[in-house]
Amino acid sequence: MHHKIISLASLVVACCFLGCSSKSVAGKSNVLGSGAGEQRKEADARQQADQPNAQTPVEQGTATGNKKAVAYKPFVSKNTRWTPEHLAYGTPQYYLYKTDSLQKAYSRRIYYENINKIIDQISETPDDKQNLAVNADNWYAAIDFNIRKPQFIILHHTSQNSVEQTLFTFSVRKERETSAHYVVGRDGTVYQMLNDYVRSYHAGAGKWGNIVDMNSCSLGIEIDNDGENETFTPEQIDALLKLLSYLKEKYSIPTGNIIGHSDYAVGRKDDPSVLFPWAQLAKEGFGFWYDPNNLKQPPADFDPVLALRIIGYNIDDPVVAIQAFKHHFVQNNVSKILTDADKKILYNIMLKYK
Ligand SMILES: [Zn+2]
Repeated sequence: MHHKIISLASLVVACCFLGCSSKSVAGKSNVLGSGAGEQRKEADARQQADQPNAQTPVEQGTATGNKKAVAYKPFVSKNTRWTPEHLAYGTPQYYLYKTDSLQKAYSRRIYYENINKIIDQISETPDDKQNLAVNADNWYAAIDFNIRKPQFIILHHTSQNSVEQTLFTFSVRKERETSAHYVVGRDGTVYQMLNDYVRSYHAGAGKWGNIVDMNSCSLGIEIDNDGENETFTPEQIDALLKLLSYLKEKYSIPTGNIIGHSDYAVGRKDDPSVLFPWAQLAKEGFGFWYDPNNLKQPPADFDPVLALRIIGYNIDDPVVAIQAFKHHFVQNNVSKILTDADKKILYNIMLKYK
């Protein structure tokens, strides 16, 4: 298991997973890192998936008992050649088999239950008197509206060994809830695990600009990568670019709103890794990158910390903000110090966000 833990300015940075919970508390380390804990969770999952009645079909459309409920569609695996007794623990085949079992056992069912809860939530009207501050006698319905759209995309690396392991992680019940809308495999396969309009638990505690609940306004994309020294594959980046292209256009997401988990959760997260090709993404219009041939000397009164803040970084601890900035935009040098060259990059990027 790859739960990378790095000391960084006395804070702790962990891999993407297992700290992304909406229940995360700002300022607290969300590192799990315990291999034993992970093993335990997997054992629980195995146990649950192996329940004899685990694949009992669920009645259709009864998730909430509401007439408006969306009908449950059972999971159908296309993998028919599995011989579980011969599968070695921890292999991609092992995780795929387990994930299929979990999807049949309960993941799909929980998905539909949650969707139906959301339908109930957005079906409430002022007539239901949820809000006591509304004291008019009548509800006059406005007629022009639709559903809120994501405005950010947060990129992550999985710190896991295979995309199958990640599919498993997001399928299994966990103490700490984690999820993402998309997972991009090393071979370029793109999995969508959640509808774009629902709030997933990928970003956790953090701050970007004045946004402190990134899960509420973003899509999370997990890119399968061990988070150590593994380069992202060309197939993976090509697939990611296609996905970003679709999402950016569909939801009118601003170029500068495609950022890394490490940008949002400074000092707590370090994904995607310094090997992530941000420059290549920026060339295609996803996220900003500096102009290497047009780096100007910042003015004499240039305030680097203010520049970081203008870009969006949380500057509560300026050193941590500097490191997060360098992790993304300098990459080959992530020290705590801003060199003159770094300041030119910072100034250049700041002007793009201004
Ligand atoms: Zn992450």
